[in-house]
Amino acid sequence: MMQQYLALKAEVPSALLLFRMGDFYELFLTDAGVAAAALDIALTHRGEHLGQPLPMCGVPVHAHEAYVARLVKAGHAVAIAEQTEDPAEAKKRGSKSIVNRAIVRVITPGTLTEERLLDGRRANWLLSLFPSTDEVGLAWADISTGDLWLGTARPSALADEIARIAPAEVLAPEGAGYAELPRAAFDSAAAEKRLAARLGVSTLAGFGQFPRAALAAAGGLLTHIEMTARGQAVLLKPPRLHLPGRVMAIDGATRRSLELTDGPTSLLSAIDLTVTAGGGRLLAAELAAPLADLPAIEDRLDLVQWFAADSGLRDEARALLKGAPDAARALGRIAAGRGSPRDLAALRDGLVAAQRLGGLLDSASAGGAPPALDPLRHGLQPPADLLALLEAALVESPPLQPNDGGVIAHGYDAALDELRLLAADSRAAIAALEGDLRARTGVQTLRVKHNNVIGYHVEVAPKAADPLMADPSFFHRQTLGNAMRFDTEALRGLASRIAQAQAHALAAEAAHLETMREGALAAATQIGRVADSLAALDRASALGELAAREGLVRPRLTQGMDFHIAAGRHPVVEAALRRKGEAFVPNDCALEGAARVWLVTGPNMGGKSTFLRQNALIAVLAQAGSFVPAAEATIGLVDRLYSRVGASDSLAEGRSTFMVEMVETAAILNGATDRSLLLLDEVGRGTATWDGLALAWAILESIHDRIGARALFASHYHELAALKSRLDGLALRTMKARQWQGDLVFLHEVGEGAAPGSFGLDVARLAGVPADVLARAGEILLRLEQGDAGRGAKEALSDLPLFAAAPAAPPPADALRARLADILPDSLTPRAALDLLYELKALA
Ligand code: ADP
Repeated sequence: MMQQYLALKAEVPSALLLFRMGDFYELFLTDAGVAAAALDIALTHRGEHLGQPLPMCGVPVHAHEAYVARLVKAGHAVAIAEQTEDPAEAKKRGSKSIVNRAIVRVITPGTLTEERLLDGRRANWLLSLFPSTDEVGLAWADISTGDLWLGTARPSALADEIARIAPAEVLAPEGAGYAELPRAAFDSAAAEKRLAARLGVSTLAGFGQFPRAALAAAGGLLTHIEMTARGQAVLLKPPRLHLPGRVMAIDGATRRSLELTDGPTSLLSAIDLTVTAGGGRLLAAELAAPLADLPAIEDRLDLVQWFAADSGLRDEARALLKGAPDAARALGRIAAGRGSPRDLAALRDGLVAAQRLGGLLDSASAGGAPPALDPLRHGLQPPADLLALLEAALVESPPLQPNDGGVIAHGYDAALDELRLLAADSRAAIAALEGDLRARTGVQTLRVKHNNVIGYHVEVAPKAADPLMADPSFFHRQTLGNAMRFDTEALRGLASRIAQAQAHALAAEAAHLETMREGALAAATQIGRVADSLAALDRASALGELAAREGLVRPRLTQGMDFHIAAGRHPVVEAALRRKGEAFVPNDCALEGAARVWLVTGPNMGGKSTFLRQNALIAVLAQAGSFVPAAEATIGLVDRLYSRVGASDSLAEGRSTFMVEMVETAAILNGATDRSLLLLDEVGRGTATWDGLALAWAILESIHDRIGARALFASHYHELAALKSRLDGLALRTMKARQWQGDLVFLHEVGEGAAPGSFGLDVARLAGVPADVLARAGEILLRLEQGDAGRGAKEALSDLPLFAAAPAAPPPADALRARLADILPDSLTPRAALDLLYELKALA
């Protein structure tokens, strides 16, 4: 058995192998250790392998799906080896033979189609990389929907591309340090042929000019997909070419710092009003990759505006979309051979919704719709034959499993209806037979029953069985404690008629299901287009709804260097404040000419980070094709967005906060162009004051003089304001705060000028730092500030008795104290005590 196990394991070395043994799937050797730890189940030993106890663990077959889900979620690939013959067969070959087994499924994080393992609102990408001489080829696919992209990236931009795609699994040729495939899999010419053959075309030229490196990556992708599918079909749409310059470049650190798509306080979660899973996936992808392509952005904005302007149309469209199931993923499951009758119904309902939405848009667009609507209206047209078939053949809501029938609608197939009638008639005939048998035997409690073990039978209580035992037309079958069971010829005949009719009906239903499945696959491209159009319309109408609800405006995008936001808001902070019943203070931001770079100073908690982030988010929203939270916005296309806001905590990766800060800052200084938008918050905070100030100073100069990008630079080093006189494009802004009745009040308003100080002590007071510590800090601060520029902090502080607050001085010597010291209270009588009091009083 171990030989068989090891042979199968060699087929899938990188996967955990679940080896079927009766009612369990067992894992052995190192797999057992990994799985036991990941699943928190017992690791045991059984027998020996190569002289060592054999480690193993197992999961019951009936519950294995949940365990597989946990392993895959934890990032493991899982292979399932089933018994492919009856144990009796193996016995026939000889008493020592073991049952044949084969791997029937390989489940990896990037090749899932199971609904329960996927997040409906996120794509699930499998990414393949092929490093060639000066670029890296990329191919990524979501086989749950069939989406496939090809592209290339410069090696220096690879990390950003991976962060944008956010793949569930990454493949690369051996030696590249990722999940590895043999180099031979990455053959561009062979891959091109394989893709073309899959799509039934002779060349891919009709879909775009794909770089060789990208095709090579696609080779690895196809190899992995086919390996995991184990002979099942996999849905893949025609490849699309991804052009890197078409999107705004955003690195991983910036994505995290801006919380674009992940987490409960992300931009996505604040603006996502889509009503379909496909629309949700599209919006997430678009926010992750804002465009840098003006006409494409305008097309998206036109659609949003069209929906924003017409609430009647919007409501109707959204109501129709709400009823549209996830046709893209239903088709993916059908293609993978795991489709249920419900998936066919999902296709049908999706196509019906598309058809109705198409009708609505046709009539609405009579009054003038944007040209960008045309391809979507066109794309909504369902494959007519398939839709007619699904509508006629399927019942309204079919069962999940086809095993018990009831999938095909009444009236679709006359022969099937007849079989069903026959089965139903026979059931009536059985009721009639029961009546006959009662009359004949005189046993009124006689019943005709059915169970799964012995089928139809006659049942009576033991004490009423005599007439049946005496009657030769009853055949005795079973005696139980409280019942005796019999058969009759007539009952057998009827039962077999019912069984036959049922079997024929089931076979007829299965055949119809197969026809529908084939029809769906034949129309896969068209269904994919319908699903894409539904998603795009959901996205556009949801953003229209958002614009109307939240009072957003259409941004004006230009090829220039503008960045002009009037009364901008931070959508996430605004929503959070609203829940608390507080108002958000809108702020302007105009980065241009003599104010290309803003130095924003102000106290901590004053709203600096919020202000920086809100401007980045407005740029992201605008270039993703959404309206923006502002009174007015004009933005010259941003090619790269960099945000270093707030201390990101990578301590787990073994880098100090300051190191992380500097690595991210280096990426900005090396990567930014004059068309980039830069947000830097508190650069240099992670190190000593003077180092930090010096670094912040030099970085600000470099951004201003060398890069020439639009930038917001926030700092609590108000000393930086001195740079104003030297940098002609630097403007000073400050978050306003006011002292009121001894407390600091934040106005969250951006004003001209620099903060008069850091207000650190005031913030500390608000935070509840004890008064004596604050008083002492005030003393130290005063000394530091009085230290003139020629003297460093050290000299200034050297005069200050820092922590040497003097120990309590000995009390002065005097007669009163001397007398007090002499007193032994316990030796005094009350009379003596009173005398003593007079004496002391006289001394005072
Ligand atoms: P800083 O970066 O200056 O320390 P933050 O940007 O983190 O300050 O803001 C601190 C808090 O102030 C936020 O959590 C928010 O509640 C509030 N805040 C910031 N900006 C505004 C604003 N424009 N309007 C209202 N409240 C704001």
